[in-house]
Amino acid sequence: MSLYQKTAHELHQLLINKEVSAEEITNSVFNRINDVEEKTKAYITLTKEQALEKARNVDEKIAAGEKVPPLAGIPIAIKDNICTNGVKTTCASNILYNFVPPYNATVMERLNGENVVITGKTNMDEFAMGSSTENSGFHTTKNPWDLERVPGGSSGGSAAAVAADQCIAALGSDTGGSIRQPAAFCGVVGMKPTYGAVSRYGLVAFASSLDQIGPFTKDVTDCAMMLNAICGHDPLDSTSVKNDVSDYTKFLQNDVKGLKIGVPKEYMTEDLDPKMRKVIEDAVVKLSNLGAVVEEASLPHTEYALPAYYLLAPAEASSNLARYDGVRYGYRNVDADDILEMFMKSRSEGFGSEVKRRIMLGTYSLSAGYYDEYYNKALKVRTLIRNDFNKAFEKYDLLLSPTTPSTAFKIGENTDDPVQMYLEDIFTLSVNLAGIPGMSLPCGFVDGMPVGLQLMGKPFSEGTMLRAAYTFEQNTEYNRQRPAL
Ligand code: GLN
Repeated sequence: MSLYQKTAHELHQLLINKEVSAEEITNSVFNRINDVEEKTKAYITLTKEQALEKARNVDEKIAAGEKVPPLAGIPIAIKDNICTNGVKTTCASNILYNFVPPYNATVMERLNGENVVITGKTNMDEFAMGSSTENSGFHTTKNPWDLERVPGGSSGGSAAAVAADQCIAALGSDTGGSIRQPAAFCGVVGMKPTYGAVSRYGLVAFASSLDQIGPFTKDVTDCAMMLNAICGHDPLDSTSVKNDVSDYTKFLQNDVKGLKIGVPKEYMTEDLDPKMRKVIEDAVVKLSNLGAVVEEASLPHTEYALPAYYLLAPAEASSNLARYDGVRYGYRNVDADDILEMFMKSRSEGFGSEVKRRIMLGTYSLSAGYYDEYYNKALKVRTLIRNDFNKAFEKYDLLLSPTTPSTAFKIGENTDDPVQMYLEDIFTLSVNLAGIPGMSLPCGFVDGMPVGLQLMGKPFSEGTMLRAAYTFEQNTEYNRQRPAL
C-alpha cells in the first residue's frame, strides 16, 4: 500500500514512530496528484512548494523530539470558498478569478496550529450553488469511480480528491447537502457538523443561516480527528457556539447496543430506486444485528423542505453576493462609461448562470409585496421542519436515511433542468434548515457506484453519530474499497 492510500491516523503512527517523514508523505500525495489529476480535475490550485516546506518543518519538529499534534504533516485539501492567506480563493467563480485573501479563515488558523500540510484548493460549484461541480466557472470534476459521472457538489472537488487519494482528508462546506451528497457519490465519509460548531469566519458566505464547514475523510476515525481540529468557539463568528467536547475520538466505540435509531418513512418512499432501498435496508439489518433498536419514524413536513430551502437560500445569497461589484477586488469590466454600467457589466460577466438565477429568485422573494408571501412563509415552514426533528429526537438518538435518492448521475444529465438538479438535495437539506448535524458514510454499491448512508442527530450529538458510524464501519468493508483509476 502506498502512503497516499493511507488514513491520517495510520500516517500519524508512521510519523511518530519515525518510519516515514512528512516530506515522503507529501511527495507521495503529489505524485498521486500528478498521475490522476488529469482524469479527475479535482483541484483549482495546487500549493506544492508551501506543502513541502510545511512538511519539512514538521519533520524537524519530530527529529527534535517534539510531540506533534495528530494531524501534523498530513496532506489536506481545502474547498476553494475557504479563505487562505496568500493563496487564491475563487469560489470557482470568474468574478473572483484573481482574489487572493489577505487573511485566513479560522479553520485555516486551526489547521495551521495543528501543522497540517495543505495540498491546494479544490473545485466546486460556483459559490457552492449546485450538486455536481458542473456549475464551476472553470471546469467540471469527474467522479473517480466513473469518469463519465459527476462527483456530486458543491464540494465535488474535495470529495473526489479524497476518493482518488489526491489528499488524505479535505474540508468542504454544506449549505443544503454539499458535503454529504458528494461524500455519498464518491464513497467517502463526510460530515456537516451542527450549525455553530465550526466557525464560518473566512468561509465565503452563500446562505449564512445554513452554511457550515465540515470534513471529508477516508474513515470515521479521521472524521473525529478532523472535528477535533476544526470545532470550537470563535469570537470572530457570532453564530459559533461554545461546546464542551474536547476529544471526539473518545466516541469511537464499536458498540451500538440499545441505541435508538428512527428511519423516517418520508425518506423511504415508493420513488426510491429499489436497488438503493435494498442497500439501505441491509444497513438497517446490520445495525439491528449489532444491537441498535431501529424503527420507522416520521418527519411529516419533509415535502416542504425543498421549496422552503430554495426560497431561503437564494434570498440570503442575493444579499450576500451584493458585495461583488468590481470595485474593491475580483473581476471588473474596464469598458464601462460610468460606475453604474461598471457594476452591471462586472456582475453580468463575472457571475455564471446558476448564480444569477439564485440572485434573481432571492431578490424577487425579498421584494416588497412578496416578502410575506414567500420569504416569511418559508421561515415558518423552517420552524415546522425543526419541530419535526425535535419531536423525533424525543424518541430516537439518531435518524437514518439514504443520503441521496440515487447514485452519481452522468455529466450533463441534469444541466438543462434546474429543478431536477435541486431534487438531488431532497434528503440532505432538511438537516441544514433544522441546524442539526448530518453525516454520510459508505454503505454499499449499486451498479459499481457508491451509496451513502445518512445519519442525522440532535444538535451537538456528533459524538453519538461517530459512535454509530464507527460501529457500522468496523463491521463492514465498504470504506476500504477504492476506485481503480
Ligand atoms: N445543492 C444545493 C444548492 O445548490 C446545496 C449546496 C450546498 O450545500 N452548498 O443549493
